[in-house]
Amino acid sequence: MPCRIHSISVRMARAYLVEFDRGCFLIDTGAPRSERRVLECMRRLGCDDLRLIFITHAHLDHYGSAASLRRLTGAPIAVHRNDARAMAEGRTSVGTARSIGRFKKPFFPIVFPFISPEPTAPDILVDDGDTLRDCGCDATVIHTPGHTPGSSCLLVDGRCAFVGDLLTTTWGPQVQRNYATDWSQLAGSLERLKSLSPEIIYPGHGKCTVDAAGLAVLRF
Ligand SMILES: [Zn+2]
Ligand SMILES: [Zn+2]
Repeated sequence: MPCRIHSISVRMARAYLVEFDRGCFLIDTGAPRSERRVLECMRRLGCDDLRLIFITHAHLDHYGSAASLRRLTGAPIAVHRNDARAMAEGRTSVGTARSIGRFKKPFFPIVFPFISPEPTAPDILVDDGDTLRDCGCDATVIHTPGHTPGSSCLLVDGRCAFVGDLLTTTWGPQVQRNYATDWSQLAGSLERLKSLSPEIIYPGHGKCTVDAAGLAVLRF
């Protein structure tokens, strides 16, 4: 039975609740104080068995409510091992900025103290190729670094790719062009995603998904 995917508009980002026959898991959590929106979605669906909180990367708009959701649900938190320390220290490292990011970055030191997450030590460290079958679902971790060292996509059912900030659809489908800890890695990460031939791509920002044809034409 294929999974059912529910998109949740959380603070500053988009989270996804993926429902399986044996429970559900969450991909990203939004900035701090997003937990109510996630719990409301679970309640609406009658889903009370959250088995895992998967974090695509250690930025506050993605892991900001992970610690409180872990307390509220008991679900463990998983992240790629290269982003574990930043999360455990409550940090958000945006790296170097380009494009519109150059104009936003100077404000981060002013804004971040008010919206920074609590330090969030993950329970599960994942690597490229790891599967989440223990959680009862067909999901594989794809390491796609560049935006952060541990940025990872999750490929579910072999056809749905949850890509965090590798792509956005906020202003139409675009690859990451604002922030990266290593810009040289991003093109390779995009090619890696393309090589998996996902049918639907779920971005970390923006209401819309991207289909295979939309992914094929994306370039750096
Ligand atoms: Zn990010
Ligand atoms: Zn983001």
